[in-house]
Amino acid sequence: MSESLESIVKSVCRSCGNDRARMMDVVRGVQEQTGGVTSEAMDLIAGELSTQRIEVESVVSFYSFLSSRPKGQVVIRLCNDVIDKIKGVDRIAQAFCQELGIEMGQTTPDGRITLEWTACIGMSDQAPACLVNDEVFTRMNTDMAREIAAKLKGGAEYFKLKHELGDGNNADELVHSMVINNIRKAGPIICGCMEPGAAIRNAVAMTPQEVIRDMKTSRLRGRGGAGFPTGMKWDFTRGAQGATKYVLCNADEGEPGTFKDRVILTEQSDLMFEGMTIAGYAIGAREGIVYLRAEYAYLRRLLERTLSERRAKGLLGKNIAGKQGFDFDIRIQMGAGAYICGEETSLISSCEGLRGDPKTRPPFPAQKGYMGCPSTVNNVETFCCAARIMEKGPGWFAQMGSKGSPGTKLLSISGDCMMPGVYEVPFGVKLSEVLEMAGAEDTQAVQVGGPSGQMVGKAEFGRTICYDDLATGGSIMIFGPKRNVLEIANEFMEFFCDESCGYCTPCRVGNVLLEQRLNAILDGKGEPGDIEYLEDLGKTVKLASRCGLGQTSPNPILTTIKNFRGEYEKRLKKPEGEMIRRFNIHEALSDAKAITGRQSTLY
Ligand code: SF4
Repeated sequence: MSESLESIVKSVCRSCGNDRARMMDVVRGVQEQTGGVTSEAMDLIAGELSTQRIEVESVVSFYSFLSSRPKGQVVIRLCNDVIDKIKGVDRIAQAFCQELGIEMGQTTPDGRITLEWTACIGMSDQAPACLVNDEVFTRMNTDMAREIAAKLKGGAEYFKLKHELGDGNNADELVHSMVINNIRKAGPIICGCMEPGAAIRNAVAMTPQEVIRDMKTSRLRGRGGAGFPTGMKWDFTRGAQGATKYVLCNADEGEPGTFKDRVILTEQSDLMFEGMTIAGYAIGAREGIVYLRAEYAYLRRLLERTLSERRAKGLLGKNIAGKQGFDFDIRIQMGAGAYICGEETSLISSCEGLRGDPKTRPPFPAQKGYMGCPSTVNNVETFCCAARIMEKGPGWFAQMGSKGSPGTKLLSISGDCMMPGVYEVPFGVKLSEVLEMAGAEDTQAVQVGGPSGQMVGKAEFGRTICYDDLATGGSIMIFGPKRNVLEIANEFMEFFCDESCGYCTPCRVGNVLLEQRLNAILDGKGEPGDIEYLEDLGKTVKLASRCGLGQTSPNPILTTIKNFRGEYEKRLKKPEGEMIRRFNIHEALSDAKAITGRQSTLY
């Protein structure tokens, strides 16, 4: 057994208090120092945390940023979402491969550099983009890729490779990133100026019940997409049995095409922390946790500094804003690359140091959440709105937006348009107005709400962005006339197949079957009846899946059938008697032949 590995594991575990619930931090820490969490490391971690090895292995195998196989000291992760693909990421991949002399998914022979694909990293407005360890490289071209690869091969330090810095806090010494904010339209709620503490002082001048009453009066609904009323959620959590309660902030915006939380975290984290602190006061919590997606690790030091500044100002810690007995603090929990952790119960599992498996509901997090205690989980934007409501009043907030959807919505707009970026718009805005703002011309289709949302065509551009019509957590992907909507739907289905946690059969198997049939249609092997098959199976997957992922994953197919049916129909072949040409008996039997070592006497 390697002496140094043992001392690294001991030291990492000790720094996390040998607490099994800190498993995510432990495995991340060990991987950072050793390149991977090997079998030997897993045994050591299990010993140090007094748990079973399987517990460690289940976590390491679940998250895409963790690996039991040591990777290079430098890991290049190229974003392969749909927007990056239409912006030419395949050419970037080719340039990296040529310069490094390896294929995607491989490590250079000297073991120093690993090159792999990753799902959306929250940079669709400046695609193609990649991560080099925690460093973000955006607006990539093939020359940049070759230069980065050549310099890394020559031993350059990865964080010194960028030529320019982004705007705002992206240029701060603690971020030092080339990411740009791309704020195209600033609104009064999220993008307005704020005075740290102003909203908290208003809140603590009231009782917690009055704060919740104001949230209800404002009619604030969760900005993640589902739109659950925030005041009601806080009320349930406050009223739930249990002395210890938690506030959790979902900063795991993994929905492909979404990046607006990135901008809030960069420029308005004070507002978000203010909202979390108010939630803590309202529900009676003493601890808040920000679950930060691994792709945004480059923002962690900036966020930690804001937290320190707020402690120094008396806005976190004991007797906050002079309110005796109001003690509350916030910590950051890093994720490790799993889309499903954007689902609130999966996020809780991950914070508890487990695989990001969704939990069965009921009980709901408000009753039994983090560590079995009542917890409120809201997203980054929702907490910002809550802070603004306390600052300016519920009436001020409710007069913006539409009847059922008060306030504004931050949109992440990307794809075929002149001005991709972040737009703060009032709810009720028409999709056609959004397209005009973004400089989109001759748009064929818009994916509203990311892959789990819906793809709409020209006939629907008069619809409005709000909870009662086109609901979105923020992602708006625009596709021009040359794009193949079925290929896009297929990319989304591949994404869901990859991200399914595998717990329940409808999602684990159903999505694969949907994707296979769509692939067959794209390959020119579509048969009469395929549309009905896809509709039936898609509805079954939605109905029978356990969590939000499976309940929305067939949407790319179902909404393209609804709005682009002709694209399917023109690819279906005429019937050829009773034969189903798609089925290849030899291919179907090949696995069985390999396992048994026997050859069918008939085939
Ligand atoms: S629906 Fe999918 S992601 Fe959700 S629990 Fe089932 S298998 Fe996992």
